[in-house]
Amino acid sequence: MQDAATASGGNPATAPGGNPATAAGGNPATAAGGNPVMAAGQDAGRAAGGTPAVRLTGLRKSYGHVAAVAGVDLEIAEGEFFTMLGPSGSGKTTLLRLIAGFERPDTGSVELAGRDVTRQPPYLRDVNTVFQDYALFPHMTVAENVGYGLRVRRVARPDRRRRAEAALEMVRLPGLSDRKPVQLSGGQRQRVALARAIVNEPEVLLLDEPLGALDLKLRQEMQLELKRIQREVGITFIYVTHDQEEALTMSDRLAVFNQGRIEQLGTPEAVYERPASEFVAGFIGVSNLLEREGRRFTIRPEKIRLLDEGEAPPAGSHAEPGRIEEATYLGMVTRYVVELTAGGRLTAVAQNLETAAAEALAARGRPVTVAWRDDQTYEIQGHSRTDAEASPESPDTASPDEQKENA
Ligand code: ADP
Ligand code: MG
Repeated sequence: MQDAATASGGNPATAPGGNPATAAGGNPATAAGGNPVMAAGQDAGRAAGGTPAVRLTGLRKSYGHVAAVAGVDLEIAEGEFFTMLGPSGSGKTTLLRLIAGFERPDTGSVELAGRDVTRQPPYLRDVNTVFQDYALFPHMTVAENVGYGLRVRRVARPDRRRRAEAALEMVRLPGLSDRKPVQLSGGQRQRVALARAIVNEPEVLLLDEPLGALDLKLRQEMQLELKRIQREVGITFIYVTHDQEEALTMSDRLAVFNQGRIEQLGTPEAVYERPASEFVAGFIGVSNLLEREGRRFTIRPEKIRLLDEGEAPPAGSHAEPGRIEEATYLGMVTRYVVELTAGGRLTAVAQNLETAAAEALAARGRPVTVAWRDDQTYEIQGHSRTDAEASPESPDTASPDEQKENA
């Protein structure tokens, strides 16, 4: 509560109306995001062009023996939709709190729009935070909640009213101004929290698992809404989630966190198609890790073909015999787990273009030939972090799957 009030409250750094991010209109991040070169190499931590909205350098924060944030270097471009994805306990919230100023780093610095704010309190930073639990004031109406930050900044009442209404319209909640939070659904409360954050026109909006409390359908709806709002207001979004699908659908770029470090940074496509480590491959989607002739690689389930009996493998593809261990009918697709004769196990997904549920399930136990194209496999190095100097004294204790379970 305290944090929310501070976060959305007095923010003298933003002059009313003056939001260079909005004024600029363009979205340099999208351009940066679409560049696969960004995904790998030494420059992966760098945002393209201009002064980044956020620059983190050598950031560390420990609680006792726990290195919550264990050395993060990162640049986020102005107007970018950037996601921090990782299992529970990987340091995402701590990193957000360091950016917002609720925590001080042990070492390293935080820059916002080129200004070092490492030692600045939250209210002197041009950021707002949206929390998972909304943190609305229960005794205030919707309009009062949304206008609160403006009131703290002594914006005149008529102006306040007008801007609060505009923000409520932006989140598609007009006409509910006089309700109290208890009179709203979960989804509506989340929209109010969002309106309260964007009404201040911050340079950067931090969102910590904001959709976590909503059911799946509402969550998917709100994902699209958030994208729309972000496009319309042009504010830099830093979005925290442990949900890989959410990260893949919403982000210009994303960082995969593991034990306080960035394991991989890149566009959704790059991270999904070309996971840099076993951890990333396992955390995002199905890992499908195979070892053949000393080469370790992953292949995504939808790239694997199950051949019909007697069907020749497509030209240029690699084929192997196996046995269907499991078949699960999922409506649009069927998921097969195939045990390979040469060792290892692959999950493949096939669209149910002509397959009925009964047919799909009857496949269980059958011998099968699977095929994939070598250029759709992706090699996994022994241990590959973006940060090559990942400290040796923190071995991965849990497997990616275990960590995903815990998320
Ligand atoms: P995430 O948001 O990814 O789940 P957190 O940043 O909340 O991760 O936590 C990272 C690690 O730091 C965890 O091991 C957590 O227990 C620890 N931690 C976070 N905040 C505190 C705190 N205030 N005191 C002690 N340990 C903390
Ligand atoms: Mg968290």
